[in-house]
Amino acid sequence: MVDVLRHGWKKLFDRAASSLSAYRDRLAAVNALGPEFRAASDDDLRQLAQQLGSRARAGASPNDVTVQMFALVREIASRTIGLRPFDVQILGGLALHEGKIIQMQTGEGKTLTAVAPVALNALQGKGVHVLTFNDYLARRDAEWMGPIYRFLGLRVGFVQEGMPSQERRAAFSADVSYVTAKEAGFDYLRDGLALEPDAVVHRPFNMALVDEADSILVDEARIPLVIAGNIQGQPGQPERLSELVRQLDPARHYVIDRERQSVHLTNDGLDRAEALLDSGHLHTVENLPLLTELHAALYAAALMQRDVDYIVRHDRVEVVDEFTGRVVKDRHWPDGLQAAIEAKEGLSHSAEGQVLGQITLQHFLQQYPRLCGMTATAETAASELLQVYGLQLQVIPPNRACIRVDYPDVVFTHKAAKQSALVKEIMRVHATGRPILVGTLTVEESEQLATSLRMAELDCNVLNAKRDDEEARIIAQAGKLGAVTISTNMAGRGTDIRLGGLDGAQEQQVIALGGLYVIGANRHESRRVDDQLRGRAGRQGDPGSSRFFISLEDDLLQRYGIDELIPPRYRPARQQEAVDNPVIRREIARAQRIIEGQNGDARQRLLSYSHLIEQQRRTVYQKRQRILLRDEQPEILRKQALEFYEQTCGLIGREAAADLERRMTLRVIDECWAEHLAAVADTREEIHLVSLGGRSPWEEFQKSVARAFMGLSGSIEERLLIEFKALQITPDGVNLDAAGLRGPSSTWTYLVEQDMRSDPLVAALASPRHIGFAAGAAATGALLMLWALAQRFQKRKR
Ligand code: ADP
Ligand code: MG
Repeated sequence: MVDVLRHGWKKLFDRAASSLSAYRDRLAAVNALGPEFRAASDDDLRQLAQQLGSRARAGASPNDVTVQMFALVREIASRTIGLRPFDVQILGGLALHEGKIIQMQTGEGKTLTAVAPVALNALQGKGVHVLTFNDYLARRDAEWMGPIYRFLGLRVGFVQEGMPSQERRAAFSADVSYVTAKEAGFDYLRDGLALEPDAVVHRPFNMALVDEADSILVDEARIPLVIAGNIQGQPGQPERLSELVRQLDPARHYVIDRERQSVHLTNDGLDRAEALLDSGHLHTVENLPLLTELHAALYAAALMQRDVDYIVRHDRVEVVDEFTGRVVKDRHWPDGLQAAIEAKEGLSHSAEGQVLGQITLQHFLQQYPRLCGMTATAETAASELLQVYGLQLQVIPPNRACIRVDYPDVVFTHKAAKQSALVKEIMRVHATGRPILVGTLTVEESEQLATSLRMAELDCNVLNAKRDDEEARIIAQAGKLGAVTISTNMAGRGTDIRLGGLDGAQEQQVIALGGLYVIGANRHESRRVDDQLRGRAGRQGDPGSSRFFISLEDDLLQRYGIDELIPPRYRPARQQEAVDNPVIRREIARAQRIIEGQNGDARQRLLSYSHLIEQQRRTVYQKRQRILLRDEQPEILRKQALEFYEQTCGLIGREAAADLERRMTLRVIDECWAEHLAAVADTREEIHLVSLGGRSPWEEFQKSVARAFMGLSGSIEERLLIEFKALQITPDGVNLDAAGLRGPSSTWTYLVEQDMRSDPLVAALASPRHIGFAAGAAATGALLMLWALAQRFQKRKR
């Protein structure tokens, strides 16, 4: 009756089996030690841990140390937390130890799998970070696995958002630190502004094990972590432009291209805007910044949707994450767009800061000399992981075979038909008592579905991105008899769903009903995210099933014109019932792969952009680090202002003068770097406003950024000399505040939301001939841009 897809499990395991054989010998050796370790006393085991520790510290970890350690952790885990790692968990751990990304299904016990390789590396005393998906999991996993590490004599710490710096430093000085990549990265950025060595919280990086690795290494990799400091912005402009855009006629003045996620003014629109702004020609050098802001206002009005892309809460615009559908508190769009959206919603612009430092998550993770990771879904990203990080994938088979049934998609011609079928299906299955988990793309969609269900008098739980711990609590109960849970597709990731609820009391009844039923209310752009959702059912050999409901009107299908990909003779007429046609299902699956490919390409392009800045950052950072740690004494002042320097020494002493010089140099490096970043950001924003007369925008971009960087060390010297000579030095020393040597009065950190499709750079790089705004600028574009940049950079230097 139904054709059942078994998801290619067999093929998967055949492949896994062959590459796993490399670890089987060591697994056998670990197993062989089992009886002996089981018989040993706690004290014996502790002693062995110490011995292994001193051997590990003495040098490499030879095979026998590895084997003993894995066997030891297995025994200790079963004594302390009552879980004895299965063979597959040992295999997974061995692969992690070799620096692989392992794929293990949801619920297979990855948290425990990580402990042996982490402990083994932590024994060397250089610290290991386990990078978790969120703060809640950092705490949970550190507490859950803590007893094993402590038994081994290792210290464990965890970091949470908002923790004071002493506690963070303590957590990072532990042998094993559980922390989100984001928090670890923010600390790295803060450390990069330290003016004294003891203000730093991190130790030199040694090894990181990344949980939910595909999310962090692939989906989030390009997101820049940013640290900013307080300066005043210039208010007024975004509001004015937002008002102007309201006066434009969408039919006449601008054109929206939903597929490219871009919008541009028509010639009429340009005339109208110029008239309303009384600005003269907008495509002139002086007006380039204005044009950039106008474009942001237009983009905010035409393409950013409230409650889909962002929500407004407590008078603030909060970004909704495209992957999780969750609101992310400390995430911003690039400044211009953020301001434009705030203006659109009539909110006052948040205090604008100057960006003091930034790094993408990818580049942050590459700071770790050793990197490995684990996830349930990495196969479709395997080549990207290899290409970008040099990380190989190892698929680990489940402890008990997965018997989940993945049904083919149910496809409808329009949204309303899908929605009513969803409600009917949920009602039908719910009547049997079988638990149901529905995954949606957005909070809005979750709410809509919940409303429809409540109207049909069905009670359901809705997860909507409030707090990780609350979500974990709710989702942990999604396997209870009669539960209906609606959640955006990755909310509660990392939390185990036991059949029959948290205590498993109704397990047998739920098993008899077929286990958890997962319904996808939408296809995601990435198969991995869909697979995450499916993987919620069928954990540890449980029964379960999954099914996706799709309509040809869904945003994803519309945006990429998938309905047009369907050959006309197969394109169905609008109908209430599902369309039962394998050709259509195949086209949808194909389109999803195409989109994945496009997104992968866009990521690659963005990476090449950020590589350039990252190389520059590293150069500056290394220099700064040597000065901070006293490995290098800056000499600019001594060399170029010897007389003044000697006077200073006479007044405050040699040591204090050297100290002063060091501090000033650090501050000036930071200031000049911040200005460099601002210049780069401007180039980036403006790059799509001009057409480049046949030249490659990427090359122009590189050239101008490289040129700006070449001027950087000159600017640093120049400013240092000016500031030094302006110092008021008395025998009592220097007033640090007056000399601006204290660093920024406050800093804050956030993530920059980049919509790849709308990213000007991606657009520019993807289609060299693409004219982002209006044809008028074509001929002189590149020159205009470079000139504007040069001017702007000059302006900043002054
Ligand atoms: P994953 O991260 O792979 O989704 P978790 O680490 O959250 O899985 O573990 C899922 C569940 O499996 C937990 O309830 C955990 O207690 C259980 N578990 C893990 N390892 C074992 C084991 N060796 N024996 C029994 N239960 C285990
Ligand atoms: Mg997990």
